[in-house]
Amino acid sequence: MVSNRFKFCENFFNPSLTSGVKIERPRGTRDFLPDEMEKRRVIEKKLREIAESFGYREVSTPTFEHSELFKLKSGEGIVEEMYVFKDKSDRELALRPELTAPIMRFFVNECSNLPKPIRFYYFENCFRYERPQKGRYREFWQFGVELIGSDSYLADAEVIILADKMLKSFGLDYELHIGHVGILRSALSFLGDNASKVMRFIDKRDEEGLKNYLTEIGVGSEMREKIKAIMNLKGGREIIEEGKKLVNYDFSYLEKLLDILDSAKVTYTLNLGVARGLDYYTGTVFEFYAKDLGAQKQICGGGSYELAQLFGGVRTPATGFAIGFDRICELIDAKAERRTTVVVAYFKGLEKIAFQVAEKLRNSGFVAVVDVMERSLKKQLSYANDINADFAVIIGEEEVKKGNLSVKDLKTGEQFAVKAEEITTCLFELLKR
Ligand code: ATP
Ligand code: MG
Repeated sequence: MVSNRFKFCENFFNPSLTSGVKIERPRGTRDFLPDEMEKRRVIEKKLREIAESFGYREVSTPTFEHSELFKLKSGEGIVEEMYVFKDKSDRELALRPELTAPIMRFFVNECSNLPKPIRFYYFENCFRYERPQKGRYREFWQFGVELIGSDSYLADAEVIILADKMLKSFGLDYELHIGHVGILRSALSFLGDNASKVMRFIDKRDEEGLKNYLTEIGVGSEMREKIKAIMNLKGGREIIEEGKKLVNYDFSYLEKLLDILDSAKVTYTLNLGVARGLDYYTGTVFEFYAKDLGAQKQICGGGSYELAQLFGGVRTPATGFAIGFDRICELIDAKAERRTTVVVAYFKGLEKIAFQVAEKLRNSGFVAVVDVMERSLKKQLSYANDINADFAVIIGEEEVKKGNLSVKDLKTGEQFAVKAEEITTCLFELLKR
């Protein structure tokens, strides 16, 4: 009788017998091959190490939330791009477009009693219904931190220094732009409810759209020019003086922040046009732009915000950032350290010994691969070359009787007989050559 499993295999090897439908992955999503995954893990590991060295500890929240969580304050842009769906009990849920709102919900519900400040970091996937292109996906990953409980310029300084250190550690070529939405909002306060929309035009650097909108809501040319001047105000510290002339606002917070950044040797451009797409920011905002990434050049964005009171908690200042993990991965050339790989090849009938030898090698730190296709020794060795293995350990009847194994160095082609119990020592010796 032919088992079902065998029938499946038969169909598998004979395409004319398959009647399946080819299913493409959803638009804007990606599959990652092992090389790419290894690279991503190397980058992720470094980000984790740096975040942890500043005292941040990892948290994780659900992939989906009540859509309301993001609708409350994330801003129109985010809501338009959100994946929203109803579950079977008619609840409206959303795939998370970002992590700050979920973490603040978590904070209010479960960790508001932790000693402040709280330092959290996360590395999670996010979902936005955007037009897919290089560096812009519908599922992407963010590595971010939230520093909760301080409204001091020192907290903003810490997260900026941290983000800068992370990006610097990969040798990336980028610019850091720092702005202040408090200043921007104060300049736009006369617009009332229209200010948020204006902020969005500023965020997108859409001067034309901004001009048309301001005209539409009846803002005169003098004010329009002033808003444009604020939006385009960027440069070194000296622009603070110009800013003071344009906006009646206390710039001392920003000045103290810049003092710390200067002493920490963080290079930045002050840019009052940094508005951030998310509505919850209150003070300092910043964005890192990579050179050579075109329209998708923003590799990190962050700032200080207040969300806790919106989610039913006590008003709590916080600050943080999110790094666009996929975008930095495209810029970084990282390779995982390759572990020495050994193929354990054997003659038919010696499977049990092969499995034992492989296990011994794995326990000594090698990657050990055993044939599971019941192939000839020749084919096993050819596969060893195909997968770029470093060594083959060959198990033959005669050798086993004498307590021996053969080791083949696949780079040089040399082959040696060794005592079975000395196999790992022998491989370590060969590696030292
Ligand atoms: P952009 O202006 O490029 O749309 P954003 O302001 O919407 O970015 P944030 O909400 O600040 O981005 O998210 C933080 C980081 O996440 C961004 O700096 C960016 O690197 C990355 N990011 C945002 N959207 C995507 C996406 N669709 N695909 C890949 N990375 C993204
Ligand atoms: Mg966006």
